[in-house]
Parts: sequence; C-alpha cells; structure tokens
Amino acid sequence: MHVRLLLLFTMMTGAFAQNRTVTDAEVMRVHRSALLIDTHNDVTSRTVDGFDIGPRAPSGHTDIARLKEGGVGATFFAVYVAARYAEGSHSANRALQMVDTVRHDIAARYPNDFMAAASVKDIEEARRRGKIAALMGIEGGHAIEDSLRLLRDYYSLGVRYMTLTHTNTNNWADSSGDIANPQVQHHNGLTDFGKDVVREMNRLGMIVDISHVADKTFWDALAASRAPIFASHSSARALTNVPRNMTDEMIVALAKQGGVVDVNFNCGFISQKSADADARKEKSPRAALADVVDHIDHIRKIAGIDAIGIGSDFDGVECTPEGLEDVSKFPNLTRALLEKGYTPEDIRKIYGENFLRVMRAVEAAAGK
Ligand SMILES: [Zn+2]
Repeated sequence: MHVRLLLLFTMMTGAFAQNRTVTDAEVMRVHRSALLIDTHNDVTSRTVDGFDIGPRAPSGHTDIARLKEGGVGATFFAVYVAARYAEGSHSANRALQMVDTVRHDIAARYPNDFMAAASVKDIEEARRRGKIAALMGIEGGHAIEDSLRLLRDYYSLGVRYMTLTHTNTNNWADSSGDIANPQVQHHNGLTDFGKDVVREMNRLGMIVDISHVADKTFWDALAASRAPIFASHSSARALTNVPRNMTDEMIVALAKQGGVVDVNFNCGFISQKSADADARKEKSPRAALADVVDHIDHIRKIAGIDAIGIGSDFDGVECTPEGLEDVSKFPNLTRALLEKGYTPEDIRKIYGENFLRVMRAVEAAAGK
C-alpha cells in the first residue's frame, strides 16, 4: 500500500512538472509576450537567386506569411559565403551580393514587414513598429579575404556577427568541418591574425560567432575576445555527438563569459539517429520537436537559463524536426516548453532576452 501510494505520488508530481496542460490562449499569450530572435536563417541563399520572400511559398522554410504566423520578431539573415568562393578569391564578391539580397530583396522590397536593423535599439524599435527586424551575420570568415579593411566595410554595411569559419578551415581559423582531414593545413586554432580579427570585431562591435569552428578555435576565440561571444546555430554534443555541436565544457565556459548557445534545429544536430544516418550518407530520419526541447533542457542543466537562445538554421538544412518544420511553427516550441514547466520569463530569455544581453555587451565594449 505504502509503495503504491508513493508510486502514485511520484507519477502525479512527475506529471505536474513534465506535462502540464496548456491552453492555446496561454501559448499565444506567452509567445506574443516574447521578442523572438532567430539568429540564423539561410533564406538568403534563395532570395539571392530570385526567390520572392513575400507570398506564402509551397516549399522552403521561410516567407513573410509564415514569419508572421510564427511570431518572429527579428531574424539574422545569413550572409553565407560557400567555401568554393575562396578559390580564386571571389569571397568578397559573394559576401557583397549576399549583403545586397538582405538589404534589397528583403528589407527594401517589403518595408511594411521588415525594418533593417543593426543594433539592440533598432530591434526594439522594429518591435514597437510591429515589423520584423532584419539583421545580417556573415557565415564564413574567408569572406574578409584576410583583410581587416573588408571586415570594417562589412560592419559599415550593417553586418553584426561573423561566423569565424564555415565548414572550411581558412587562412587564420580551423573549422570543425575539415579538422579530421590531414590534407588540410591547420593552425591549431586561431593564428595571430585570427586573434587580430577577433579583437577588431570587438573594437567595431561585431559579435564573434563560434558555430562551425574547430574546438581549439573556440577556446582561442574565447580567450582573445573582450566581449561575450556566441554560437549562432549550434547544439549540444553530449546529446548528439557531431563536431558541429558544443561539448559541455565549451558551453559552460561560453556561459561563464556571458555568451549564449543558440540551438540549431537541424535533425542531424539534435538527434543521434539522424546524425548517424547523415554520417552514412543516408536520408536523415526526421527528428522531433522534443529533441529540440532536450537540447534546451541540457544546456539549462549545465549552464543555466541565461545561456540559451534560438538559431534555427531554417532554409540552411534539408531536414527540420516534426512540429518545427518551418518559421511558422515556433508557437509549438512555446507550447512544449510551457508543458515542460518553463515559465514565461524563461521562454522570454531563451527567445530573445539572452541574445539581446550579449548584443548589448558587445555594443558596450565597442570603440575601446
Ligand atoms: Zn551553418
């Protein structure tokens, strides 16, 4: 009898903590109260080739109709420069074209829906005006073609973060994408010039993004930076063992310096089954919304609620989780987090406040 009572009690409290019933009205109330900032969206790879982000599209993950349904408040659009542009030094050309597609095909084409933004103040102003803040982050440090002058040019065009590498090691930073390839000449992390890049980013007020970098590059960047750094789209390696994700040690160290890990929704980064299929070059089985929640939970457990953000990687990946298929589905994540016992305050931190804290700190450290 005693044992059964105890069991019943455990089940009830468990149910209360883990599976609280949440109404649709509560989901939408909490969702709307948050300023949702997605720090990595790759729809720019489509708009640069003529895709119209306005009307609801039958394919892809992003358009204005779905951004509104998803209650997205701000998006960092990826100024993505593929590794192949480094051959023959076309990286800057490509970066400028990608900057233009954010400014011309997104912000200027739909001024009633987007507001070009480059600061915390801008993001908050866009929200007051009921618009989506459109920001830019460079993906792939080879975009600067080894020149701090180009880095400064990108800053003046409005770029506010740079991922130090993409999947390729460049002339000053090692990437997780080819770190196991002995054919590639590595640097044991960041070179002296790589550290200069980090310091110049600090001076300008551009956020250092360590998604994609090799582990040693992460540690070197963390040591070199005067301001908090972040992962614009990475998840936890303890749950899904791929080099693109961060170890617990890295996450804890990043959080200690005030940084955030913006969780990536790519199936292969949040589900080991999907990651294993990716490694065998097989079709990735769909991950689930619950996998994203598991990664958020894990980061909270080891580094605290202040270390978590959102970096979906929508339109940059083939496979998105069931229930989080595209930008319109963010309210499903809000529901899942509420059901798990996250408070509205927790959710507002994860969705935007934590990232804004990082951006504010980077802005405050600039010019010094
Ligand atoms: Zn990426």
